[in-house]
Amino acid sequence: MSFDTLGLSAELLRAIGEQGYTEPTPIQRKAIPLILDGRDVLAGAQTGTGKTAGFTLPLLQRLHASTSPRRRAIRALVLTPTRELAAQVGDSISAYGRHLPLRSAVIFGGVKINPQIEKLRRGVDILVATPGRLLDHAGQRTVDLSQVEILVLDEADRMLDMGFIHDIRKVLALLPASAARQTLLFSATFSKEIKQLADRLLDGPELIEVARRNTTAERIAQVVHPVDKRRKRELLSHMIGSNNWRQVLVFTRTKHGANRLAQQLEKDGLRAAAIHGNKSQGARTRALAEFKQGKVRVLVATDIAARGLDIDQLPHVVNFELPNVPEDYVHRIGRTGRAGNEGEAVSLVCVDEHKLLRDIERLLKREIPKVVLEGYEPDPAIRAEPVQEKRHGGVRGRGRQGGDQARPRQQRRSRSARGQRRAA
Ligand code: AMP
Repeated sequence: MSFDTLGLSAELLRAIGEQGYTEPTPIQRKAIPLILDGRDVLAGAQTGTGKTAGFTLPLLQRLHASTSPRRRAIRALVLTPTRELAAQVGDSISAYGRHLPLRSAVIFGGVKINPQIEKLRRGVDILVATPGRLLDHAGQRTVDLSQVEILVLDEADRMLDMGFIHDIRKVLALLPASAARQTLLFSATFSKEIKQLADRLLDGPELIEVARRNTTAERIAQVVHPVDKRRKRELLSHMIGSNNWRQVLVFTRTKHGANRLAQQLEKDGLRAAAIHGNKSQGARTRALAEFKQGKVRVLVATDIAARGLDIDQLPHVVNFELPNVPEDYVHRIGRTGRAGNEGEAVSLVCVDEHKLLRDIERLLKREIPKVVLEGYEPDPAIRAEPVQEKRHGGVRGRGRQGGDQARPRQQRRSRSARGQRRAA
């Protein structure tokens, strides 16, 4: 099946051709005609399914096909949980909309606000934003959302996990009523909270699901190597070196852990970089670019930093530490084996993490094969000190760490207030 049959305009088909896409992915086949038809959509799709083009293409077409009563008003708003995802969605809009006269802007925290204000002032049709920075603009009256015709919530499950529900509610209060707009909600998982949000936001939605709920792609080979905590780094370096892995994404639970591991790997002679919420946007973008170019061989990331990263055909993902939240395991290993390629997800699991592993296997509804590597056998005398789930206020009581955007808004405010006091 080709893109021609979906009802997309010549300008969009041309841009699609220039991207080198020959046929639509399943989510695109299902979502594009419904969105063109003006329907609200609740879509279950993970990163890697082509979901971004699935909503961006019909959104561009609908905006182009009609005019707004107000010139240069924001007519489409895409909310994303992280800066990286916002930037990627912005890039997709630019790429697919290159033959259309529509303007777009991307706004997120961690960078200067003034250039964003300037861009908004000049007028944009499509705005991609993370909720916190969007509300900062709304507070300063530098953004007007009263003319929004299409609202997209991308990776809605992650936005809820990150404690953004209050911010989302505030944003909704700035938009026209749901009957007057088209709303599209994309989520990798359909929890009770997502269903509640969908009930409130969507009007007679079409339900689309392409990836089975909480399952991992069969093409990803998964293995657990039981190993003592203190020997994990040595084993990781050994695996990368002896298997000659050229591009490895490694997950740690904490920002500090990511930094430390990247430094240790460098000492082992492996080019490594860490990305997490404490790194500046510039540093994160640079690390990702160098990783994609092959200059950096090992990218060490926390869950939130890695969420939504568009890295294609990644052959190896390593869980240096298992995530506190089992769903994150699914997201992590979803980075590998994309676009029909074979992928391998390796987890280094110490005795402290056995409970986390059991939770993951329960979610997957299957056991992950365990392979003890010679020379790295766990010491049976070492007793478990189970990993504590860290709890945040307002984050549904689930363990979380990560970027600035993971912190509830109140805390972000108070930190910047402290910064201002210090500066004063
Ligand atoms: P997404 O799930 O939106 O993050 O997209 C994952 C990747 O698939 C991106 O690199 C897209 O450029 C790519 N992609 C999207 N649609 C297609 C398509 N129809 N054919 C080939 N690649 C695609």
